Amino acid sequence: MARFSTPLQIYRLLPQTNCRQCHLPACLAFAAAVLKGERQLADCPYLAPEVAAAEVGDGGERASMDRNMDEAAARLQARIGGIDLVARAAAAGGRQVAGGVAVQCLGKDFCIAPDGAVTSQCHINPWVTVPLLHYLLESPGLVPVGEWVAMRDLAGGPAWSPLFGRRCEEPLQRLADRRPGLFADLVGIFSGRETARYFDADISILLRPLPRVPILICYWRPEDDLDSRLRVYFDRTAERNLGVELLHTLGVGMVAMFEKIGLHHG
Ligand code: SF4
Repeated sequence: MARFSTPLQIYRLLPQTNCRQCHLPACLAFAAAVLKGERQLADCPYLAPEVAAAEVGDGGERASMDRNMDEAAARLQARIGGIDLVARAAAAGGRQVAGGVAVQCLGKDFCIAPDGAVTSQCHINPWVTVPLLHYLLESPGLVPVGEWVAMRDLAGGPAWSPLFGRRCEEPLQRLADRRPGLFADLVGIFSGRETARYFDADISILLRPLPRVPILICYWRPEDDLDSRLRVYFDRTAERNLGVELLHTLGVGMVAMFEKIGLHHG
């Protein structure tokens, strides 16, 4: 539990409903008990086990999560050989290319061969490969409806939303705070598009990490005593086109791509 130094860090992960099912009077009391070692994160029944496990992980466990992701990618690649790849790509918004099919991720072609091998001009990491292959294999390819919702408002989202905030939204917010050019990079390098302002944000950028899974990044600049804020919104169809756990995985992979490629730029 050494990664937490204040109850507030733990409190942010919790549903904050004060439902008392942990037999403590409020989520903040539960957070304090976790910090003191009197309770485990997993004692909150509303925190997904995967979230609790990921949050208590140290560096070694993070490496183990990366290995698990590599293994998950290998299992999905093995399934590609058994499907009508071209038909699946067409349903998911991809296309046939020489040697397989291509699915665009953030404006870059990711090519998938009939044996499941994935190649791209872009940095490939398993946190992107896993949602990409899963999307190709399973997505119903629903056309986005243009209704933007936070992860916590998707089916299954409340359990994943805190971890998504820590692994995707907070790192992106720090990048945006440090690099005023981040959003220009998202537009220029990752085929993003600045849109009309949503949710009264100062900047709203539309990105397409998968053809039928757009995301909206909204950023509010710091103002007076208020810190900046950054939130990622999903189309209402995202829960069926990919599902919340893989939306979280994709968010982590996307941040890794931005750090690896975009932030070396300029
Ligand atoms: S069970 Fe979870 S949500 Fe309910 S009060 Fe305890 S910590 Fe909060």
